[in-house]
Amino acid sequence: MSVPSTAPLPAPADGRDALSVLHSVFGLPGFRGAQGEIIRHVTDGGNCLVLMPTGGGKSLCYQLPSLLREGCGIVVSPLIALMRDQVAGLIEAGVNAAALNSSLTPQEASDIERRLIAGDLDLLYVAPERLVTPRCLSLLAQAKVALFAIDEAHCVSQWGHDFRPEYVGLSIIAERFPDVPRIALTATADELTRKEIVERLQLMDAPQFVSSFDRPNIRYEIVDKRNAVSQLKDFIRERHAGDAGVVYCLSRNRVEEVAAALDDAGIAALPYHAGLDSSVRSRNQDRFLNEDGIVIVATIAFGMGIDKPDVRFVAHLDLPKSIEAYYQETGRAGRDGKPSAAWMAYGLSDIVQQRRMIDESSGSDDFKRVSIGKLDALVGLAETPHCRRRRLLAYFGEIVMGEACGNCDNCLTPPKMRDGKVLAQKLLSCVYRTGQRFGAMHLIDVLIGRLTEKVTQFGHDKLSVFGIGRELNEKQWRTVLRQLVAMGHLRSDSEAFGALKLTDSSRGVLRGETEVWLREEAPGTRIRASREKSRRGNPAPAAAAPQGDADPELRARLRSWRSEVARERGVPA
Ligand code: ADP
Ligand code: MG
Ligand code: ZN
Repeated sequence: MSVPSTAPLPAPADGRDALSVLHSVFGLPGFRGAQGEIIRHVTDGGNCLVLMPTGGGKSLCYQLPSLLREGCGIVVSPLIALMRDQVAGLIEAGVNAAALNSSLTPQEASDIERRLIAGDLDLLYVAPERLVTPRCLSLLAQAKVALFAIDEAHCVSQWGHDFRPEYVGLSIIAERFPDVPRIALTATADELTRKEIVERLQLMDAPQFVSSFDRPNIRYEIVDKRNAVSQLKDFIRERHAGDAGVVYCLSRNRVEEVAAALDDAGIAALPYHAGLDSSVRSRNQDRFLNEDGIVIVATIAFGMGIDKPDVRFVAHLDLPKSIEAYYQETGRAGRDGKPSAAWMAYGLSDIVQQRRMIDESSGSDDFKRVSIGKLDALVGLAETPHCRRRRLLAYFGEIVMGEACGNCDNCLTPPKMRDGKVLAQKLLSCVYRTGQRFGAMHLIDVLIGRLTEKVTQFGHDKLSVFGIGRELNEKQWRTVLRQLVAMGHLRSDSEAFGALKLTDSSRGVLRGETEVWLREEAPGTRIRASREKSRRGNPAPAAAAPQGDADPELRARLRSWRSEVARERGVPA
């Protein structure tokens, strides 16, 4: 983080300082994290970019300086509902706040414009498409503007998960009002998005205040997808019975199907997607917010602006499209700081499907390239044998101290690793020998020497690679295959219906120049295995406790798993 100058805060005209306004207007005892530093910098007239996770307290970073500086703070915000909530809260606190957006009558709008010019407003929220109109720009030129705050600034990013074309026009702010401080705020902090915000809003010389994105109370877990719905039912029944949660699915049909399946299993679940009647949607949302223990099954249409503190789990039945999206969605769990879970089931078909969606989208080549990079990063997170939290935060440019967080599946039950060089070579040769034209199923049939119709039809039983992979079963080969995709040694080509193809890095593997370490089992396998064992009443001998604050159930599972491993290796636990 760049640290701004530490010049003392200029005393505002009426002698109020930041802390006393914090107490008297906002009723808060003190600043949180970097708030104080940011507020001082902006009040001093500096530009900046603020990256802070959702719920971190970004609003205060522009609201307070707006009150301390002369003139009115102009806040750009993408959603009318968000503006309405904020303005209502501010008026309640005695602040002269208003919003200019399409929900107003012409009369109401001109009334607000009059108040702005008269210097009667402390804060004015403006929709981006409105701000860039000649009328609004000339209005602002006549008024005294304390600062411009661009909230949800990632909306300027074309590659982001929430691009809004209206945001692109906001570069006019820097051109027209170079002397008014600009503060851009977002909870999406990947490198590319950050760069785009800086360029579009001309913040090249401005400091960036980056808060930690870690959500230590969220436990990350990613499991191998087999029968996703029944895995989800088990997850909820065994670990979150009666808890409020959100389940994300990719399609509307899937949402309906999963909500019905949970409901049949006695779990109170409601669907939410953009295809539902708006009255049904808002009824379901209200029930989720106001009743206890409702599970909402939703598409990504659900979430922005929802502030329910006690969501105990967020489950993904389909792969989101990027780490940012995964982080945003899982971040809706545990706002109250209590232990919560981010659980995802994923499989090879998810990668193939997402790839297809990207390739078939109408986006430019650049768009596709960036989207594929983002998908790859997420697959990397799903396949990593190391700490998921570390990996997640590293994506946002944050380095976590220590080796392991103690609160993700990989830290709690470290996966067994093996040297996968030879396995990888067998698989890649099989891809090569069969002409890079086949999907996972057929390749595995060839490897394990299964004489299917297709194998005979293509004469693949005559190849030297036929049956060279009998040491693994089909399921094990799938996990090898997926890891090679995650490592970039193999790619799924959606133009060729998901055929697996070699990549630039395949050659190094085939020549034996590249190290390949593989996890022996798919993510989640060991937790499942030990659970099944303990269900059969197999008492688990005690073993060393894991690091961190593992809950008793997981500890027990870990113990039983360790003893299993020990038995396998023929050593006492
Ligand atoms: P963000 O925009 O970063 O998601 P908000 O500005 O909406 O977050 O703030 C989230 C919550 O945190 C709000 O309820 C707000 O009142 C509270 N909050 C913000 N700053 C502080 C603080 N310094 N002390 C206590 N609560 C705070
Ligand atoms: Mg906010
Ligand atoms: Zn971890």
